Amino acid sequence: MAYEKNNNCDECGKELNFPFDTYVCSYEFTFCSECSEKANFICKHCKEELLPHPEGNQSE
Ligand SMILES: [Zn+2]
Ligand SMILES: [Zn+2]
Repeated sequence: MAYEKNNNCDECGKELNFPFDTYVCSYEFTFCSECSEKANFICKHCKEELLPHPEGNQSE
């Protein structure tokens, strides 16, 4: 089975515009911005903070 990068929100299953509009926790769960906001940016699986994916958050 080929390795697939998870490009879907782990909460609602929505396809993500990875790495944009993508939030991750330190255990590499991925969430869309909508679900992240609803969860107050706390991962419901590991209770870690959800942060914008660094590659989707470049200022330049
Ligand atoms: Zn979602
Ligand atoms: Zn997590």
